[in-house]
Amino acid sequence: MSILKDFLLQFTLMVIPIFSYFTFILEKVKEDRAIKMFMTLLWGVSILLCMSFPVEYGGGARLDIRFIPLLFGTLYLGVWPGVFLSFLIILYRLTFGISMGVVTTVDVLILTLPVIFYVQRLFLRVNRDRRIMIATGLSFLYCLCGMMVFGGMNGFSIPVLKVQVIHLIFTIAVTGFCTVLIEKIHEIHELRLEVQDTERFRVISELTGVFAHEIRNPMQVSRGFLQLLDDPDLPYRQKEYIKLSIEELDRANEIIHDFLALGKPSNSTYGTINVSEQLKRTAALIQTFNVNHQVELQIDIQDDCWMKADPQKLNQSLLNFLKNAVESMPNGGTVSLSCHQTIDGHIRITVKDQGVGMNPKQVQRIGSPYYSLKENGTGLGMMVSYQIIRSFNGKIRVESEEGVGTEFVIEFPSVQA
Ligand code: ADP
Ligand code: MG
Repeated sequence: MSILKDFLLQFTLMVIPIFSYFTFILEKVKEDRAIKMFMTLLWGVSILLCMSFPVEYGGGARLDIRFIPLLFGTLYLGVWPGVFLSFLIILYRLTFGISMGVVTTVDVLILTLPVIFYVQRLFLRVNRDRRIMIATGLSFLYCLCGMMVFGGMNGFSIPVLKVQVIHLIFTIAVTGFCTVLIEKIHEIHELRLEVQDTERFRVISELTGVFAHEIRNPMQVSRGFLQLLDDPDLPYRQKEYIKLSIEELDRANEIIHDFLALGKPSNSTYGTINVSEQLKRTAALIQTFNVNHQVELQIDIQDDCWMKADPQKLNQSLLNFLKNAVESMPNGGTVSLSCHQTIDGHIRITVKDQGVGMNPKQVQRIGSPYYSLKENGTGLGMMVSYQIIRSFNGKIRVESEEGVGTEFVIEFPSVQA
């Protein structure tokens, strides 16, 4: 009974950083580096507490769940926080005196840390279920290594093995539970941000939608006159001014265009369209946009893919994906566009580039209003496209790696022609 009590105390010490993070840090600290630092410290405190109040089971042997803060610290924060936390564990263990325990600690860390470092990047890229699997799998590995190393040095005995098995089950259960907890709280937080964003955007777009049309007309007139002014005999500087003015007007027009697309009432009675034909048209369109960019377009479109959609809107959204792909490769490269019917009755469209790519944080933000990393970007293209695709019951998946490229996989339910 007393062992159980000790384990429960360990569990409490373990969840302190999680709740402190979501209550105090997440809302107030915005900078990535500061968050990492605070979290590393909090996980460190959790490790020290777990090690200070271990489960003692005779003969000076002690068990605790210090591994879990180390695991989360590494998986969520990165390799360096992991190295720091490992040193913390070893140093703190040394203060209890140099014994076999120190050797066991170091041995188990040497055996498990490389594996954790290896899967760390993968962990951040996968979905919640996979994360739970990875975290619990690593916990299992750690406990198993612990049992082997301890058994190897002290010999195996049934009473000790019994406590170790309880420890193993407990560690895996706490790891699983805490991963779910962290992921769930994150999800709720993201959802809240999304609701805030949507609400803010709804108000703005309602207002802007009203003015957009009115502003567009005088702009078109000014643009027309500027073009008329653009005489070949003008001095270079004046020609440059005119060019700049026209470019700025075009940019403003583009923003308004995106806004208007958003404000349009959605029409739920779409026709059945041949996506393959639409895509070929979009590809031809983007090719004209391509000329200056030294980008090669590779097309692999299966004939006769049918789905329910509004062709104009679908075109607009796919064009946005293709434009972004082209823009992500300032030094040229290949954009692959493919469209296939899957066995499970979906139309799968992929747009893949070899451009600058995005980190997981950027991938998460993509599609939210005004999110743009481009100097002249509006940050509306993806938002509009995401909305359009969702309105056709489509799903979007993004896979991206910085410096390697990005792939957008879009899936729609297909229909028979
Ligand atoms: P804009 O293109 O005006 O910046 P978007 O909504 O189209 O706005 O895109 C938002 C941001 O998402 C871009 O600024 C860019 O940082 C990122 N992004 C979108 N597509 C890609 C891509 N294929 N490769 C890299 N980054 C991309
Ligand atoms: Mg764009």
